[in-house]
Amino acid sequence: MSYDVLVIGGGPAGLSAALNVRSRGRSVLVVSNPIEENPLWKSENVDNHLGMPAMSGPDMLTAMRRHAEAAGAEFITGRALNAMYMMDQWYVSVGTEMYNARAVVLAAGVARGKKYPGETEFLGRGVSYCATCDGMLYRNRPVAVFGYADSARQEADFLSGIGCAVTYFDRPRTCAISGENQVQAVTCDGVTAKVDCVFILRPAVAPTELFPGLAVENSFVTVDRRMATNLPGLFAAGDCTGGPLQVSKAVGEGLIAGQSAAAFAAAQK
Ligand SMILES: Cc1cc2nc3c(=O)[nH]c(=O)nc-3n(C[C@H](O)[C@H](O)[C@H](O)COP(=O)(O)OP(=O)(O)OC[C@H]3O[C@@H](n4cnc5c(N)ncnc54)[C@H](O)[C@@H]3O)c2cc1C
Repeated sequence: MSYDVLVIGGGPAGLSAALNVRSRGRSVLVVSNPIEENPLWKSENVDNHLGMPAMSGPDMLTAMRRHAEAAGAEFITGRALNAMYMMDQWYVSVGTEMYNARAVVLAAGVARGKKYPGETEFLGRGVSYCATCDGMLYRNRPVAVFGYADSARQEADFLSGIGCAVTYFDRPRTCAISGENQVQAVTCDGVTAKVDCVFILRPAVAPTELFPGLAVENSFVTVDRRMATNLPGLFAAGDCTGGPLQVSKAVGEGLIAGQSAAAFAAAQK
């Protein structure tokens, strides 16, 4: 389905962007991991967001999401895995589905965690970031899943359901991936499993992996005062653009990015 604006990330920045796209009368789809996996969900008390004193993270996120929903923003739960720009449209893949929009707001927060030894080397040869996309290639074979959020268990269940013998590593720290031409084994925190594929299910994807060619500085997305990046029709907001890593800054940048993206989409028509 086609939208004016697609927002990646359902935290304060993404929800603010979505609300402000709707305020400009444009359609918007928010793609995000489950709300309970947002980092702010862990906060018992957010005390520095103006007008919402002593609110818990879950209450604040729920209120923000309801506001964006009431304004007409649409939502899907999932991880954006790839994006490409063709013929004045962005195409974003989420699991096995593809969505397109005239403009995109990247509001994916901070991508934590470094790549493991062997991860880049074996990408596409036994390293995958999406069980539902690539699982059938490894049907009835031994696989590993590195899960960093509760929703990763569902992807592991999907793999078990198609006959894979799944070794699940829950939030592993030190891992290495080895093999010759293909993955043959993974070792995490001292435990080795012989597998044909490892599914690495991090909640966030580094901005430069999602958007090849995106300008970053110290891993943060470079933006101008309109929150525009160096790529056409791509705007960014919130923690992914740098500090202070705080709710109010994310909401403010989301507002600007949403308005800029809506204006960009309108100009394309
Ligand atoms: C424990 C804790 C306490 C905090 N307390 C405070 C506080 O008191 N006051 C304050 O101002 N700030 C606080 N913060 C910081 C605050 O949570 C962040 O600054 C704020 O959430 C940033 O908003 P954001 O929308 O930019 O990013 P996030 O809230 O991180 O939202 C990004 C969302 O995008 C999702 N995502 C990432 N990549 C993808 C992808 N490829 N596809 C789909 N979804 C994706 C992520 O899973 C996440 O849900 C706290 C943070 C933590 C962890």
